[in-house]
Formats: sequence, structure tokens, C-alpha cells
Amino acid sequence: KNSIQQDIMKEAKEKKVEFIRLEFTDMLGETKNVELPIEELESVMNNEAMFDSSSIAGFSDIQESDMYLFPDLETFKVLPDAVDQDCIARFVCDIHTPDGEPFEGDPRYILKRAMKEAEDMGYTVNVGPEPEFFLFKLDKEGYPIRKMNDRAGYFDASPKDKGDQVRRDIVRTLKKFGFQMEASHHEVAQGQHEINFRFDSVIKAADNIQTFKNVVKDVATGHDYHATFMPKPIAGENGSGMHCHLSLFTNGESAFFDENDPEGISTTMKQFMAGILSHANGLAAITNPNVNSYKRLVPGYEAPVSVAWSHSNRSCMIRVPTTRGMGTRFEIRNPDPTANPYLTLAAVIHAGLEGIRHELDAGAPETRNLYEVSTEDVPTLPTNLKEAIKALQEDKVVMEALGDHTSKVYIEEKEKEWIEYSLNVSQWEIDRYMNK
Ligand code: GLU
Ligand code: MG
Ligand code: MG
Repeated sequence: KNSIQQDIMKEAKEKKVEFIRLEFTDMLGETKNVELPIEELESVMNNEAMFDSSSIAGFSDIQESDMYLFPDLETFKVLPDAVDQDCIARFVCDIHTPDGEPFEGDPRYILKRAMKEAEDMGYTVNVGPEPEFFLFKLDKEGYPIRKMNDRAGYFDASPKDKGDQVRRDIVRTLKKFGFQMEASHHEVAQGQHEINFRFDSVIKAADNIQTFKNVVKDVATGHDYHATFMPKPIAGENGSGMHCHLSLFTNGESAFFDENDPEGISTTMKQFMAGILSHANGLAAITNPNVNSYKRLVPGYEAPVSVAWSHSNRSCMIRVPTTRGMGTRFEIRNPDPTANPYLTLAAVIHAGLEGIRHELDAGAPETRNLYEVSTEDVPTLPTNLKEAIKALQEDKVVMEALGDHTSKVYIEEKEKEWIEYSLNVSQWEIDRYMNK
């Protein structure tokens, strides 16, 4: 047995772990898990944990539904007791088919393929995600109601800000998970919050997003609130984004910093941004995956509408913060926290690398406030899920990033979602047309 396995056995014994939770993510970005008693730890680490995947979104299209969960041993964590009273340890898992091959529809595998592609070109990818969320109140039965947890706004302090204790508990719990926590604060909208953690290499960053969202929900529940990552829960208020700060390293050095460039940013960075901008529409169905996502991408709420890049302008899809040197990076602003982080990062990386390969030109940075510029002058992101699905179907690079299986099943699923939405008669329609 190798030493990491022995270390895990030892820690599990010392901490009296009773259950092992095997986590993975489905196509729609939901964390799924199955729990085994501690006696199974050895067989789990020998990749013997089998499960029936037939009812998991994105897996269903396959003849063979028996799949294996291969634990990523580096993700072993004994869960902080704030999350659960019972002593549970978790692994994030990769999905394999019965013949031992990685399952092509496993989002984590799809991201690993993208990472490999970057590595083959000499780059490692770092990602710093910023998922925002709302806290809503609960009814007597513990279900969320449409009342935010407070009436505070951007950077407001307690007692106006009633989320500070919740945020502190989230930070404490995530620290026990090994996260390097950064600043947290009240966001612009009532009941809206943001907690930042340090960037990491791409697979870890995606795992972290999933852990972050689960911890936020668990801790919020403990404070009698409901945490939601829905992109636009309240019409007329700021929505929740999941900006991702991206940088490439080559041999431990920034591939994005260039001291000889007047702006300090390298040709590689400009080409990588150009790749993403040129695939912006095809990416949207992944980065902004649901009907509600497009109600956030409208002028006036700090969410992007334009396919352009800029140094400070929040109406653009890409913003370049002022940090230079190793911290040289850009922020892609359109993703929202309902996006599957594995698929999102995979698709974004493939698009960016395509920009480097074809030496695409990102053009000059945008300086205008694009909320006020005509859409004929600057291209815009899709305005609804249907447009986004169509753009995805026409984008070979993003389709290949997902692979044959997932691109097909994903589009089928999203088309169903669009049709269901279209057939719904909303309160707005009743109010508007009932007296006709
Ligand atoms: N909540 C804004 C959004 O929807 C972002 C605010 C910010 O820049 O932090 O993207
Ligand atoms: Mg924010
Ligand atoms: Mg940001």
C-alpha cells in the first residue's frame, strides 16, 4: 500500500471516522454522493466502489449504467463538525467505466482533458472563483420564503448586515476544509453576500467551488436561513455572479505578465482573452446555464452584457485588474454560480487556448460604459437560453470541449428546460394581459 493510503487509514482511525462520503458532480453541476461505512475504506481506495448511475443527469444516455467511483486521494477530508455531527470523511471522485476507463461524461474528467491540453502547450491554469449568494428567510417548516435576511447593501456593517455571523461561520468551516480564506463582505443587493478564497490550480479550484457552495448552504441552514446561488432571485436588484480570475503559468512564471508591454500584459494573455471573447456566445449555455441566468445579464446591475474586455469597466465580459507580476490575470465576469464549474472551466480553457493557437487579436480595451452603447457597435452575450443553446450547437470548439456524449445530452436537457419554461404562464403575463 502506498503511503498516502496509509496516512488516510491512520487519520480515519485517529479521528474515529464512521462513514466515507464519495462525492462527484453531475452534468448540471449538482454535487451527488453515496456513503459507505468505514469498514469499506480500503476497498474504496482500491477503486472498488460501484454505483448505478442510471438516474444521474448526464449519465442516463448510456447502455452501461454500472460505474465506479475512483477516489482522488488528495481530496480526503474529515468533515468539520459544523457540517455534520456524525464523523464523516469525504473524497471527491472520478467516474470510471467497468473496464477501468474514465467515463467521458464525467465533468471532472472533461476538465482534466482541458487541463492536459493546456499542459501540452506548456501552461498550468490557475483559477480564483468569486461565487456570490443570497440568504433568504425560512418558513416554519424550513422552506425558503421570498424575504431576504436583511436590508443592508454593499459593505454595510452589522447590525444592518445580518449575515456577518453566518459569513464568519462559513469562513471558519472552510478553513477546516483547508481553504485559504480572504475577505468577506455584504454585497450590493439586500440579503446578498460574498466570501472570497484563494485561487488554486484548476481542478482544485473547481472542487473548491463545489465544497464552497455545499458549506454555504449547510451553515446557512444552521442559522435558519436558506442560501441560494440562483443568478437573479429578485427582479430589479443585482444578481449573483461567479466571476473567475484566470492566469496561466509557464515553468512557475506568469505567462500573462510582460514588463515590456505598456500595459504590462503579454501577447499570450491577449490571445487567450481573444479566444474566450470569440467563443463567448458558444460558451454562454455552459457559463450561464439556465433560464434565470439571462435575467442577470442585463444592463445596469454590474453584470456583463458586452463581449469585450476592459481595465475597469464592469459592463464588459472580461476585466483586467491592475495587479501585475505573478498576479497578472483577467476576470471573466459572465459565469454565474449555477454553472457547472468543471464544464465551465473546461470550455473556457479550450476557447482560450484556441486563441493562442490561432494568434487571435483581442483588440484595444473598451473604455466606454457599454450599458449605454448601442448593441450594433459592440457584440452582446445571448439574451436567453434558447439563443445560447443555438450558439453552442454552432460552436465546434466548445462542443469538442464537452465531448460527444456530454454535448449531446447537455443540449437535449437544456432544450427540454427551455420548452418547459416557454409553456409556463407567469404571474407577469396574468397581471399584464388578464384585462385584455
Ligand atoms: N453581482 C454582480 C454580478 O452579477 C457583480 C458585483 C461585483 O462586481 O462584485 O456579476
Ligand atoms: Mg461581488
Ligand atoms: Mg469580481
